[in-house]
Amino acid sequence: MVEALKIKDLKYSYGEINALNGVNLSLYEGEILSVLGPNGSGKTTLLKVISGILHNYKGSARLYGREISGYSIKELAKLVSYIPQEFSPAFDLKCETIVFFGRNPHIANFKGFGIEDYRIVRESMDKADILDFKDRLFRTLSGGERQRVIIAKAIAQKGKLMLLDEFTSHLDPGHSQKLMELVKTMIKEEGITAINIAHDVNQAVNISDRLAFLKDGRILAIGNAEEVLSESLIEEVYEARSSIIENPLTKKPLVVFY
Ligand code: ADP
Ligand code: MG
Repeated sequence: MVEALKIKDLKYSYGEINALNGVNLSLYEGEILSVLGPNGSGKTTLLKVISGILHNYKGSARLYGREISGYSIKELAKLVSYIPQEFSPAFDLKCETIVFFGRNPHIANFKGFGIEDYRIVRESMDKADILDFKDRLFRTLSGGERQRVIIAKAIAQKGKLMLLDEFTSHLDPGHSQKLMELVKTMIKEEGITAINIAHDVNQAVNISDRLAFLKDGRILAIGNAEEVLSESLIEEVYEARSSIIENPLTKKPLVVFY
């Protein structure tokens, strides 16, 4: 197995606030890892370090064997697609324009988009099923439609590592399920590796290869659902009561909160 990412004793502080307190994790090429944990546990900070937005971290974070702080912004933008918790463009933009943004890291200085960029953008919009509204203003779309535009942009970027920060948090259960299934299909088809920050534990079980639970900037447990899920872990992470049963349909663990 190729190791896409290897993080060792990663620490990050915002001044006095220690957001990451020694994170260790390995991510293998092609896998989807869901990171779960309460608000303020350091999930977004972790993605920001990996995407190169936060530089002065301590410890080591290697992407394909090379320290992230050693990559240029452009190199990282070709490798990593970071989908932040909130995406609201400052201007009124057409959906297609936003998908073209995904091609920016691939364009040589002072050159415009080429035939290949147009082909990739169209193919990405087709995969995310947004061709019907490609000319509409992003602002006028529903939450689920917007997320499909953002995923089309990420696919057009052709990165190897996709980082999703609470991608379906604002959606109803039906749209959330359909969208995550679409994202999973795309990730697997394109051979992409992904870190998915989520709050819905059971959805994470369904779409991920492994789960990691973060609290106070540390990973409390990491592994597949069968290995890591326990009532005591859920209590420790979320301070919530639960019972873990077997999902009668998928045979995977199902967390029932009560
Ligand atoms: P999560 O995504 O799990 O909710 P974050 O990574 O956003 O957590 O935040 C982790 C900790 O770092 C929290 O205590 C938060 O208040 C703090 N934090 C996050 N961003 C900043 C910032 N820009 N300045 C200061 N503190 C921050
Ligand atoms: Mg966050």
